[in-house]
Amino acid sequence: MKKAWRAFANFWKGIWEIVKSMGNWRGVLSLLIVWLIISGSGIFVLGFVFNNTLLKGIGIAMYAFWLGPFTPLIPLNIALAMVVQRFVFLDKNVSWKSIKEKFRGAFKEDKEIIKKEEFIKGENDMLILAVETSCDETSVSITRNGKEVLSNIVLSQIKIHQEFGGVVPEVASRNHVLNITRVFDKAIKEANVKIDDIDLVAVTKGPGLIGALLVGINAATAFAFAHDKPLVGVNHLAGHIYAANIENELKFPLIALVVSGGHTSLVYMDDHMSFKTLGETLDDAVGEAYDKVSRMMGEGYPGGPILDKLAKEGKDIYNLPRAYLDKNDYKFSFSGLKSAVNNLIYHSNRKGETINNNDLAASFQEAVIDVLIHKLKTVIEEYPVKQIVIAGGVAANSRLRERVYEEIKDIEIIMPSLKYCTDNAAMIGIAAYYTYKKEGSLENYQLGGYSTLNLDE
Ligand code: ADP
Ligand code: MG
Repeated sequence: MKKAWRAFANFWKGIWEIVKSMGNWRGVLSLLIVWLIISGSGIFVLGFVFNNTLLKGIGIAMYAFWLGPFTPLIPLNIALAMVVQRFVFLDKNVSWKSIKEKFRGAFKEDKEIIKKEEFIKGENDMLILAVETSCDETSVSITRNGKEVLSNIVLSQIKIHQEFGGVVPEVASRNHVLNITRVFDKAIKEANVKIDDIDLVAVTKGPGLIGALLVGINAATAFAFAHDKPLVGVNHLAGHIYAANIENELKFPLIALVVSGGHTSLVYMDDHMSFKTLGETLDDAVGEAYDKVSRMMGEGYPGGPILDKLAKEGKDIYNLPRAYLDKNDYKFSFSGLKSAVNNLIYHSNRKGETINNNDLAASFQEAVIDVLIHKLKTVIEEYPVKQIVIAGGVAANSRLRERVYEEIKDIEIIMPSLKYCTDNAAMIGIAAYYTYKKEGSLENYQLGGYSTLNLDE
């Protein structure tokens, strides 16, 4: 109950921050009036006052529209509030020019790009606030220049989803809403920076759970807009790869193996932000296979760290399949392996035999890692590179880390440390620096979320 109260209070505190940016009480009242009209709440209340079904209906429809993924309505809302502030409350401090600018921002069709030379050329330090909410971690970070991490607050929902044995998208979105303003606050406080000093706001635009992504996108957009900061959308997979740039330096050309709960990809990069995806998984992602196999074995969630630990006490004695697919192709498939584990458990249960979970975990893990290492060895024969980067949640796996260093010599292999392997906003901030250098920021703040998103686009 106390927790719910705190979340509620924090939510309103966040709204209050935006409201405060309107300047004075006239601004606040104007924003409230416009919000009541635009959100439909006012019409809805009038519907009740006059007991008019039509008004109630319109109110509800507008409410649903407003709550939907219509981020561009934020500038429109604020612009209208400025009109009310000036002409109803006769507040001459609000200039025509600023109102016009906000309006234009809301309606701009073509995506105008802004690039500030000082940052592109690296003349000035760039302080970046980044937001990540693509799955079940609510995270905000402050980073500097695609390298330095000043703060990286990660609020994991693992405990909440454990009950269900996996991430429940709707539950994830709701918890992002409850926590996001608190995480913003904490990241800014811990980095000990002023909001004025932030040069860029970045947010994961995809791929990920769409409802979860939209919470971060809306929060980042509102923050950027209220404080007049440029905004960039960052690809989550690029974030995973760039996590390796924090403690090491990416050297091109490189091969990146991204292995996480939602993705398994081999990517070739010949320069910053230039991606060529060589292969992906045809079915399950590696992390997903870990999670599902763990559930079949009656172990908990998330499966990766649990099986990693069990495997340390076990031996590779169950003969599980390795799906190498075509020898020279860089696609992956893990559903066959998953089914094999399922069959093994089913048949032993029927025969009344018991399975040693330590041994099964070890067997599963060796099968997975055999395939990953085989693909890496094949790919570096075709693409001579300076570096191999292994990133994403599964890169936290102790056995994978051990084996790649043992089995692949003569080429530098870098992996982010454990805290930067699983989802976090620091990696998004690092990738944002290079994304801005390449693409600039969107002037109109119209950033959408994408449940699927290719790195190569
Ligand atoms: P996504 O971005 O796709 O949500 P993350 O990068 O957050 O995924 O990684 C989460 C995944 O990483 C989970 O599937 C989890 O089981 C897996 N994982 C975490 N630690 C380990 C580990 N030590 N060994 C293997 N897998 C792991
Ligand atoms: Mg991830």
